[in-house]
Amino acid sequence: MPFCVRCGAEGPVHRSLCERCFLEGKHFSSLPDHVDVPRCGHCGDYLLDGKWMGIEAREEVAERAAELAVLLEKGAEPVSAGERAERIDDANYRVDVEVGMAVEGLEVDEAHTTIVRFKNTSCPRCNRLMGNYYEGTLQVRTRDRRMPDGLREEIIARIQSLMEAHMRADRELFVSKVDRLNTAQGGVDVVLSSSVVGRAIAHELADQYAAEVRETAKLVTQKQGRDLYRVTFLVRLPAYRFGDIVRYEGRLYLVGALRASSTKLTDLRTAQALMVSNSDMTSAKVIGRREDVLEAVVVTETDREVQVLHPGTFRVLDLRKPPRFERKGDTVKVFQDEEELYLLPLQG
Ligand SMILES: [Zn+2]
Ligand SMILES: [Zn+2]
Repeated sequence: MPFCVRCGAEGPVHRSLCERCFLEGKHFSSLPDHVDVPRCGHCGDYLLDGKWMGIEAREEVAERAAELAVLLEKGAEPVSAGERAERIDDANYRVDVEVGMAVEGLEVDEAHTTIVRFKNTSCPRCNRLMGNYYEGTLQVRTRDRRMPDGLREEIIARIQSLMEAHMRADRELFVSKVDRLNTAQGGVDVVLSSSVVGRAIAHELADQYAAEVRETAKLVTQKQGRDLYRVTFLVRLPAYRFGDIVRYEGRLYLVGALRASSTKLTDLRTAQALMVSNSDMTSAKVIGRREDVLEAVVVTETDREVQVLHPGTFRVLDLRKPPRFERKGDTVKVFQDEEELYLLPLQG
């Protein structure tokens, strides 16, 4: 039978001591009297375990900070932890912590109390934001025409939602400035904290709007000795948009899906679709906007023709149906070009 080398008691031993002698006067965990938690006075985030994070309840922050500050002796394995925070004032919280550990196969519980102190500071993101730090500028413009306000707002909203998606992965990102231009050309400059994300967003816009992207980088030396590049992404949107009518190589087309390298066109007369490279599309001329497409009431329909009321003059007109034409309701979509009224091949 094993026995305790200190008191002689027989029974199981831990490092040659019985349980009572082994635990006597020993502590296997400790907690500092005070635990400081930096809090950003601008965005309200807390620095916990080396990471800035937004947490709603200050009690929760105090409890997590206290638990993180517990130190265990070598050989003690954490089993459980329980905390209870109590507000002293806005900046100070008393936190009771109970630590459950396994030491040499024994269950050991210890209790500690600490004061968590919130210290106002400024997080790196807010520092950069307030220092007007930036790396990337998206200059969004329209080719050959002024950018309509509606399109501009749509693009700003799209950049912001793309940015939010990137920010979920990287808290340090931010939009530094949104500058709506009042020049003849219009458009918008969006200034971003990161050129890497700026590049990603420029290409996402290119893909969405068949835009071309031109990139220019400028080296700016930063004070900390690290090289800083500022990159400008000129995103030039074509003059046409989805749903517009263009003249291309002498024929009229409805603009379909826009891609980074090509645009889909549908011939108004033959309903034939073709993909045109965006570099060739620079010769296309917009002759009607999506808003210029009108609804005409159908009078009768035969195999080959649709008889409609002209939406402007209310005269009855016969329109030849493009191949595979399908009517969706009591009206059809038409487009007026000079003297001619076109029945759109795609009615969806
Ligand atoms: Zn003993
Ligand atoms: Zn902050």
